[in-house]
Amino acid sequence: MTERSVAYDWLRDGEQIDEVAQIVKTVGAASGSMARGHAMAPTARRVAAVPLPYDLLIQRGSVFDGTGARPRIADVGVRDGRVVAISDRPLLSTEAAKVMDATGLWVMPGFIDIHTHYDAELLLEPGLQESVRHGITTCFVGSCSISMIYSDAEDASDIFTRVESIPREYVLPALREKKTWNDAAGYVAHLRSLPLGPNIASYMGHSDLRAAAMGLGRSVDPKAVPSEAELRWMERQLEDGIDHGLLGMSGMTNPWDKVDGDRFRSSALPSVYARWSEYRRLHKVLRRRGAGRVFPLASAAAAVSGLCRWCRLRDLRRVSRRRGRAASEARV
Ligand SMILES: [Zn+2]
Repeated sequence: MTERSVAYDWLRDGEQIDEVAQIVKTVGAASGSMARGHAMAPTARRVAAVPLPYDLLIQRGSVFDGTGARPRIADVGVRDGRVVAISDRPLLSTEAAKVMDATGLWVMPGFIDIHTHYDAELLLEPGLQESVRHGITTCFVGSCSISMIYSDAEDASDIFTRVESIPREYVLPALREKKTWNDAAGYVAHLRSLPLGPNIASYMGHSDLRAAAMGLGRSVDPKAVPSEAELRWMERQLEDGIDHGLLGMSGMTNPWDKVDGDRFRSSALPSVYARWSEYRRLHKVLRRRGAGRVFPLASAAAAVSGLCRWCRLRDLRRVSRRRGRAASEARV
């Protein structure tokens, strides 16, 4: 028997699962009515309660199992939103509430998009269909230091729109209308209230946090440093954000991403002006909360593409000055 079980986050399409639930309900109702015809209601309840092995059977697809192995033609059984069987032998279609023919199609685990800037789009089109239709099941937002959690609507818009080339005239009104939160608890509650397409996970954006702590003007003033009270507030927000499920912190050292609007136009993002001592305070929180906490430096990611080699070298110099101690924090 080549059948085996896997359990990863796959096929969590709400509509599909709802549809399967509906089919199961229909089958159960049909069983009940047949049984009632024989005046055996107690037995009918027992028949209706026996679940089929699979809610969904996907037949004859070219299956990528997510291990890196080459694809193979196989049947996939899904129950309760999880893959419970991948079989080289055909699985019985009578054992599934719904059967899909995937001949000639690829069947694969959902992709995780670890770097998006969907923060604004989530306000207006939380289904994110352009990603879902490409097979993405989880998106990370709050990248490159620019989440939309802590700062007010105009500050959040100004640190976002020019960097992402998304018109301010769309983003600012949406933020003014919808942004009722200014902390991680409020943001997570907002996300939970949305009809999301993919799963969403967010970083705490350092520029967002810094602007909220210092005011956008001071946060982009090269001479300004956060006070001890402001640093402590940022530390507390980072702790609180992790408690509420944020992935960790995203920063920015690329000086060519510019602030929008008419107040501090063309300044670099607030995170760029932070001194290493400020990063060190926040890194300590990330380190204390566990090695899995992520600190992606956007400039290092850009350097991989060959666009910002200077930033990459600057990051490395800053890290090496710390005698390697912070090397793990600078990875992307
Ligand atoms: Zn980015």
